[in-house]
Amino acid sequence: MKIQRIIFSFISIGILSACAVTSNRSSLVNKGIPVAIQDINSSDKGPINLKKIVAADWVAERGGLINLKDPKAVAASLQSGQEPIQIYFYVLDHPKFGRYVIDTGLGDIFRKDKKEWPVSGIVASQMNLGELKIHITIKEWLQKEPNKVEGIFLTHLHLDHILGTQDFPLGTSVYTGQNEPGDSRFLHLFVQGSTDTLLGRETNLSELNFSGKESAPIRFLDFFGDQSFYIISVPGHTEGSIAFLIKSTSGAQLITGDTCHTSWGWLNNVTPGDFTKDLERNKQSLNLLQAIAAKFPKIQIHPGHQSISSPAK
Ligand SMILES: [Zn+2]
Repeated sequence: MKIQRIIFSFISIGILSACAVTSNRSSLVNKGIPVAIQDINSSDKGPINLKKIVAADWVAERGGLINLKDPKAVAASLQSGQEPIQIYFYVLDHPKFGRYVIDTGLGDIFRKDKKEWPVSGIVASQMNLGELKIHITIKEWLQKEPNKVEGIFLTHLHLDHILGTQDFPLGTSVYTGQNEPGDSRFLHLFVQGSTDTLLGRETNLSELNFSGKESAPIRFLDFFGDQSFYIISVPGHTEGSIAFLIKSTSGAQLITGDTCHTSWGWLNNVTPGDFTKDLERNKQSLNLLQAIAAKFPKIQIHPGHQSISSPAK
């Protein structure tokens, strides 16, 4: 009886303590035109100039990045250990609608001593932030590239995707997937303060509306309405993860976010491991991205934290 009571208390504490990833304000916004997969424009090229920028080199535990229990990972003898990864951000220039950024690399504050970093000590050590080898910060990039940024899209609100948000001018629109700010987990008890600080407590998040009809949730938003830039709802890694299909001047490009972190994961269609909230939904979302990629034979794939070298031409 006593043990049962103790277990019950733990469960209650766990439920009561589950906590949203951020306490920042957020509002649902209707942007873009909902489309079905069969309606996606089949041409490879489009008007967007896309640049991928390596913000930092880093390392992370392989068992977080790849589901090592997946039969394909077992067959390949993948073991836990440190995997070299990178942190990216992407710059989209649309000739008519201007400049947008996907994810936010690193803020200039991370050039300073660790004591000044806007993350808690526990989070910094758990995340191996001391291993970051910075290539460029958002502030440094903005000094070289002063064009106005119309908006920022966050693939999701994990800390390593929002580290540079504060370097952008206050008031820049920040978009997430639907339900991402409210994503609730026990773990968030430890990261919410750092997430709020990194986003900037004044930042009001805009959640893209993927509600659709109950029987048919929206999976694709044609953001500009000209079939050049599709935002894809890919729940699983987090509640409101989003990915992007871009018709660029150099062909179709797919930015997966952390629905797939690694090159190996993409090439073998294996989901992330411990870093993912819901493996089954992550798997369904990864399958959707693989189905989109199959429609474009020359598509370039950009996993969340590694780059797939383009095939020889
Ligand atoms: Zn993540």
